[in-house]
Amino acid sequence: MNFDLCPCGKNIEYNNCCGAIHLSKVKAVTAENLMRSRYVAFTLADGDYLMKSHHSSTRPLSEKKSIVKWAKSVEWVKLEIINTTKGLENDTEGTVEFKAYFKRKGELQFIHENSTFVREENKWVYLGMK
Ligand SMILES: [Zn+2]
Repeated sequence: MNFDLCPCGKNIEYNNCCGAIHLSKVKAVTAENLMRSRYVAFTLADGDYLMKSHHSSTRPLSEKKSIVKWAKSVEWVKLEIINTTKGLENDTEGTVEFKAYFKRKGELQFIHENSTFVREENKWVYLGMK
């Protein structure tokens, strides 16, 4: 296993994939890319990025600490993108349905969510569950 590969599931090195988005070197071109970068931020327990990539109207600042704590408490396994609507380069909104798998106390679990993404200041951000 190559640990430099991005945990988002694309066969690309982290630094050239979600890592570049995390460092604001490049923007997420699609809602799906933003979603992938948020999943990877969960695997890294990167609370700052999780807040930054959240729409300002729904940003859960008061929950940041508990989100980071939870993200660290599980073992992230993989992200599966199930379906997307819109969310492309020329769209202003879109949805991404995904499953994020993790192990908790050795037991495989997953989050299954259909998320809504919109643009804020011309960047894709997570708005919330559909
Ligand atoms: Zn990635």
